[in-house]
Amino acid sequence: MQDQSEIIRLEADAVNSARTRQPLYAPRRKIFPKRASGDFRRFKWIVMAITLGIYYLTPWLRWDRGPFAPDQAVLIDLVNRRFYFFFIEIWPQEFFFVAGLLVMAGIGLFLVTSTVGRAWCGYTCPQTVWVDLFLVVERAIEGDRNARIKLDAAPWSCRKIVTRVIKHTIWLCIAVATGGAWIFYFADAPKLVADFVTGAAVASAYMTVAILTATTYTLGGLMREQVCTYMCPWPRIQAAMLDETSLTVTYNDWRGEPRSRHAKRMALAGKSVGDCVDCDACVAVCPMGIDIRDGQQLECITCALCIDACDGVMDKLGKERGLISYTTLNDYNANMALATAGGTRLVNPALVRDPDGRLSNKVAHISLRKLFRLRTLIYLGVWSAIGLFMVYALLTRNRLELNVLHDRNPQFVVLSDGSIRNGYTLKLLNMVPRQRSVRLSLKGALPAASMSVLGSGKPEGGAFDIELEPDRLKTIKVFVRQAAGQAAAPFQEFKFVIEDNAGGERADYTATFNAPETAQ
Ligand code: SF4
Ligand code: SF4
Repeated sequence: MQDQSEIIRLEADAVNSARTRQPLYAPRRKIFPKRASGDFRRFKWIVMAITLGIYYLTPWLRWDRGPFAPDQAVLIDLVNRRFYFFFIEIWPQEFFFVAGLLVMAGIGLFLVTSTVGRAWCGYTCPQTVWVDLFLVVERAIEGDRNARIKLDAAPWSCRKIVTRVIKHTIWLCIAVATGGAWIFYFADAPKLVADFVTGAAVASAYMTVAILTATTYTLGGLMREQVCTYMCPWPRIQAAMLDETSLTVTYNDWRGEPRSRHAKRMALAGKSVGDCVDCDACVAVCPMGIDIRDGQQLECITCALCIDACDGVMDKLGKERGLISYTTLNDYNANMALATAGGTRLVNPALVRDPDGRLSNKVAHISLRKLFRLRTLIYLGVWSAIGLFMVYALLTRNRLELNVLHDRNPQFVVLSDGSIRNGYTLKLLNMVPRQRSVRLSLKGALPAASMSVLGSGKPEGGAFDIELEPDRLKTIKVFVRQAAGQAAAPFQEFKFVIEDNAGGERADYTATFNAPETAQ
């Protein structure tokens, strides 16, 4: 075992723990998280780079859809009521795809939370990611924890003013970029950026950027952990999703207690002593300002930075990593039973170690098999089934639609030759970004009927070719006529059919032909 003198002791208070936290309206005690390093911190850097990269860069990706559709890969086109996502184009009547995605996101969140706890909060929540980004700036300008604490406590001076101005200016730039990136999802990004800087953009664009700049700066830069502690409902909701087999960041007091800053002296005096050397490294790195050794807390976002900090301490002490670790309640209880001889005595860390001083094989560890249980498999099954159904629906959806409105007043007209005519308004929807020629015909119970299309300049017939513009709805007026004595009933069902002349898609609509009672 190495000498504990190598361990840097930090004086860090858990200022945001429920037991020490100030009442809501008392001034907030600032948190100055120390920079952490380790596997989880590295993983967080990667997730941060990916999520920020996706958010800021996606509107600039191009996707060639031909001359009749925008070439922005991801675009919410509110004016034309379309959602473009690479090769997918969603029309308003296909909104169920978006609803399906939201349902999948919800079930995915259940799956992740029940399996690995608050991974969303600790790694990918926008609040976490942007606070992390703002902290990077703060550390780069003001220094790490001790330097920031010192600067904060120092009286105002030229240096302090300049430092603060630089920090807040960069924060504001990030906030403006964040608000700016958001509006690029709703219009062609290169054009909008040019319009925006020249003052030619619509007022709503400026208002959206102003609101998002203010919220990003306030929530990410100024309020930070207060958003998670007081404003976000998710920590409260997810408590219902966790069970004894969910992973949570846990201080393993069954090997850490009794903690001591003088472990060697205690051991020499024959006293039982745990692995925790009470260095407060785990408290100093915590962005939420809590002490994980106080047990599970609502404030903990499971970012695992305390694991990195403590693992660093254990490495220096030559002890096994994992004094703080991702653990399930089941494993924790099993290990606690081991350390307390089945709950018959106080924690004795010697009981979890073999005579050679290594952790006993009886100590329970997490494994993938434990994580994937019936509950998570059901979530995974439902999530996958919805996903597969959506992919199937997407691949087989029809890009040609037909809707028909029968004239109501009058429902039919008896012409001078005794024939009966019904009028219809047809809406033909071409949902692909290219011109199409479709053939309109009648099918079903009107074998002797003929049709005319208003404004086509063509004589009555059984079928008509109609040109459809790319990505557009076309409305036409159609008359269907049956000769005198041909109407077999007052209400006859038949179908309007449109078929792509290039082959493939077709759509139909069942309509009725109305005739007077006396016509049969
Ligand atoms: S206690 Fe640990 S895991 Fe929880 S928020 Fe603090 S550093 Fe992150
Ligand atoms: S749990 Fe680890 S990091 Fe925290 S005080 Fe104990 S030894 Fe230090």
